[in-house]
Amino acid sequence: MGKIGKVYIMGAGPGDAELLTLKGKRAIEEADCVVYDRLINPRILGYAKKDAELIYLGKGNTEGGLIQDEINNTIVEKAKEGKIVARVKGGDPFVFGRGGEEIQALFENGIEFEEIPGITSSISVPAYAGIPVTHRGMARSFHVFTGHTMADGQWHNFEAIAKLDGTLVFLMGIKNLPLIVGDLVKNGKDINTPIAIIEKGATADQRVTVGTLANILEIAKAKKIVPPAITIIGEVVTLRDTFKWFEDCKLFGKKILVTRDRRQAGEFSDKIEKMGGNAVELPLIEIESTCEKFDAKTLKNYSTLLFNSPNGVREFMDKIEDVRDMAHLKIGAVGSKTKELLEGYKLKADFMPEEYLIDRLAEMSVKYTNPGENILIITSDISPCDPEKYNSLYKDRHFDKIVAYKTKKIIR
Ligand code: SAH
Repeated sequence: MGKIGKVYIMGAGPGDAELLTLKGKRAIEEADCVVYDRLINPRILGYAKKDAELIYLGKGNTEGGLIQDEINNTIVEKAKEGKIVARVKGGDPFVFGRGGEEIQALFENGIEFEEIPGITSSISVPAYAGIPVTHRGMARSFHVFTGHTMADGQWHNFEAIAKLDGTLVFLMGIKNLPLIVGDLVKNGKDINTPIAIIEKGATADQRVTVGTLANILEIAKAKKIVPPAITIIGEVVTLRDTFKWFEDCKLFGKKILVTRDRRQAGEFSDKIEKMGGNAVELPLIEIESTCEKFDAKTLKNYSTLLFNSPNGVREFMDKIEDVRDMAHLKIGAVGSKTKELLEGYKLKADFMPEEYLIDRLAEMSVKYTNPGENILIITSDISPCDPEKYNSLYKDRHFDKIVAYKTKKIIR
């Protein structure tokens, strides 16, 4: 029998992709197979290896018994195939995440596992709405409940819950909101107690509805509140007026399509999400490397290198075996991004035309070279770069080009 794999039962936090822990990120990077649910931000799947198997097994709510069996079987089977499996859940696996049941299934099958905690939505979603679950002088405890009744219809002890001074947090509580509010009031909770419902927390679609136990049912109905949502009850809700921050971010509420090459989209998406927006990655192009390795001998033939795009720099530097082979070369670049990327490799561009055009760069290179010198242009298949033209225009220089990458359109 082959080697048995290992399973990480891990939490990914709610909505915001950056709420993933470093340990969680490492587990996804390591995994051969990622099994995820509907509450995670799909962007974090981008950390998976290119050939990792991605399996979506979500469920509308945590009472989905059948699908839970399927999840348990899947992670067991994949581990038995010798794979490293990351079972990625929204929030924390042990907070209404059924992580324990999955661990039982792994234990029964003798499969190694690790549990990686995640940031649970029960505290972080209120935080993204500007509501702290505890606050000095206001709430000395917080209590987290499921809003579901048990399969046999059994419900929480609301007589006891209504007496608690701390903040009450209900997950999965939208369907049973009338029951929760009704039972709290019936058992003596002040009808003026503030309550907030936060839908799709920590995402660009976050919506916060505030009221009191007296009027929230009416408001919730009018606003057509839908899961996933967190219900938070207590004085701390009033702090939102001053503590609200996420919805004030510049790009909050905006969905932005990022069409760049998959490997380059992340950096751009990070910028969008840092400003509170939602980056949806849909690559419409793919950068395919067409660059061969460069040896010192080839480079010795040239006095100067011209780069007309950051991708050209990336592909070229990827194929250089020893940077000292470049020591004799003068470097010209088109565009400030190209120049910046070169600087990332500790290479300074000697010249850069004001107009961001390869023709201008070729023209400028004449000033920086001597008659008889050879100039190599690192470019792409769709660039207007034309060495023949430059050879006839600037007769005492010789230009060659290397197509370092191709830009392929992705047809969907
Ligand atoms: N393990 C998860 C909870 C799973 S139960 C955790 O620790 O967060 C699913 C419930 O979590 C949803 O019904 C909702 O109440 C809450 N939830 C999870 N992500 C949420 C989000 N981004 N916004 C609002 N509620 C969320």
